[in-house]
Amino acid sequence: MIELTDSHCHIHFDEYDYDVQQTLLDARVAGVTRIVAVGTDVDNSVETIEFARQNNGIIALVGVHPHEATKTLAENQFKNLERLVKENIDIISGIGECGLDYHYEHSTRKDQKRLLEMHLDLAAKYNLPISFHVREAFDDFWAILDNSKDVRGVVHSFSSGSKDMKAIMGYGLYVGINGIITFSREEDLLESVKQAPLERMLLETDAPYLTPKPYRGKINKPEYVRLVAEFLSNLKGVNPDIVAKITTNNVEELFGRTKDVSQ
Ligand SMILES: [Zn+2]
Repeated sequence: MIELTDSHCHIHFDEYDYDVQQTLLDARVAGVTRIVAVGTDVDNSVETIEFARQNNGIIALVGVHPHEATKTLAENQFKNLERLVKENIDIISGIGECGLDYHYEHSTRKDQKRLLEMHLDLAAKYNLPISFHVREAFDDFWAILDNSKDVRGVVHSFSSGSKDMKAIMGYGLYVGINGIITFSREEDLLESVKQAPLERMLLETDAPYLTPKPYRGKINKPEYVRLVAEFLSNLKGVNPDIVAKITTNNVEELFGRTKDVSQ
């Protein structure tokens, strides 16, 4: 069995109802040997680092989700994230998730943009790749990226269409594909995923959210990244082993190599 990587999930947060060791074991049995654990605020970024220190096969990313931008700036917490990165640079593989979310707009657009710029500066300082969350905000996102040099990263949880996919490829970023494609009825989304090169794709679950078919309504787990791979293989008419191999290589290329969970 060719190994897969879940390039974005949150199974390690205290607030989610997982038996984490069992979840990691199930993932390994399903051939998912590497898991990218992603922070969404300063406190759970601390949990992300602990999770990576305690378990093999975990790639740790730390950052603040755009939903938390206003709170984080008001409480002047970003300096704590900077300190966290500085003190744990031996285990941190990237920054994220950060970005812009104008769908929910839980934080003001101004604060979201400011916080994204701060993450870009932090990533540049330590030469780290970034996992971006961008929803209904691509115009402002590209405007900010145009002012940043040499950004490496992935636009995770892609749910848009061909225009934004083309832009992601044009900027040399990766695109993160998850369970959304297994239940979406958006033709433009599916067509854009079908056309985009595998060499620029990462597979993810975004667990506990966005559970793929046929497990809709249940909690999402890293092992289900295999369902995303199978769907993508059918959509593109490409052998599933090739999908697994290329997308796993892509994660290694972006976030670096790490020991798998069986070691
Ligand atoms: Zn996420």
